[in-house]
Amino acid sequence: MFSPGTDLIEPLRIFSGAPRQAEQNLADFLKWVGGPALFHLRGRDSNRCRVLCGGLHGNEPSGFFAIHSLLREPPEFPVDTILILGNVKAALQDPGFYYRMLSQEEDMNRIWTGGVHTPLRQAAAEVLRYLARRRVEAVVDLHNNSGFYPIYSVILNGAPSRIALARHWTHRYVRYDGASLGTFLEVLDRICPGVVIECGQAGDPSADLRALDGAVRFLTAERPFAPSREFQEDAAVYRCVARVTVPQEVSLEFGSTPTGSDLTIRPGIDRHNFELLKAGTRLAERARPAGRLVVTDAFGREVTKRFLEHSPRWIRLTQDIVPVMMTNDGRAAKSDCLLYVAERVDVAGAAEPFPRSSRPA
Ligand SMILES: [Zn+2]
Repeated sequence: MFSPGTDLIEPLRIFSGAPRQAEQNLADFLKWVGGPALFHLRGRDSNRCRVLCGGLHGNEPSGFFAIHSLLREPPEFPVDTILILGNVKAALQDPGFYYRMLSQEEDMNRIWTGGVHTPLRQAAAEVLRYLARRRVEAVVDLHNNSGFYPIYSVILNGAPSRIALARHWTHRYVRYDGASLGTFLEVLDRICPGVVIECGQAGDPSADLRALDGAVRFLTAERPFAPSREFQEDAAVYRCVARVTVPQEVSLEFGSTPTGSDLTIRPGIDRHNFELLKAGTRLAERARPAGRLVVTDAFGREVTKRFLEHSPRWIRLTQDIVPVMMTNDGRAAKSDCLLYVAERVDVAGAAEPFPRSSRPA
């Protein structure tokens, strides 16, 4: 174990057991940790381990909170537990839990494939090296969203093991069949079942508590893939059939009254994630004809007219849809998309192509 105050040149700090500094509050603890870290806690059976990752994005507190809480008061684990803290430096940057990553660095959830030419990539490679030497049963990666969402999971396939794993937290699933992004989940899901849990809105204390509650269930269950009795609801698996984007040249704002942008979207529309939005719902107000939204299907073909009607003042839905991953963040809407149009699938549904996106996780 390292001692406090060590100059950090290691890309990844590795701890055996929970350090006593975990007794400090979260902010002080993260200052002490200083960078990416891996904590290996012993369970009754040390031949196997489960992995919980959190904080790959510095602006998503729930993973940091859950891991700190587990280190502060570790429950009794049936098998070894490996906790991974991600972008601690980004989380520490003033004003705290604000930056997804440092401005000169890459997104820490896009660096798990490819070269190891940066300290962040070296840290990722160290984590993978460490895990490769162990028998990993299951992996979970905790995240938050920028919009208002119920808790849900992102899975790469609908296998029963993934459904059962996420069930420690939620009954909602979004299946991602898209292009490789170099995420932690993509790499780890090749060696054992893995899921991402989107715990809810960043900064919402109840999202942090949900993250921790599920983590305790996952890490203390005798069998991680046994059906959880926590939720009564049937598993609801969605796949995305289209995405709604804002063209590059179109200016966009979220507000109750337009103040000059081409498009204005009412605040709070993100509250309808995973709900049915009826045909005729006004999605956006147009200040001028240039203000428009574009819908593309899973193959990248434009299908705007199938979903949206552009009248002189409003953009309305032409059919009922279930939106997922709908944001109320202008930057996210412009750089990725405003929302995905989802449809329910059978748990065992065949994989379909998925629109390329940077949004999941
Ligand atoms: Zn994230």
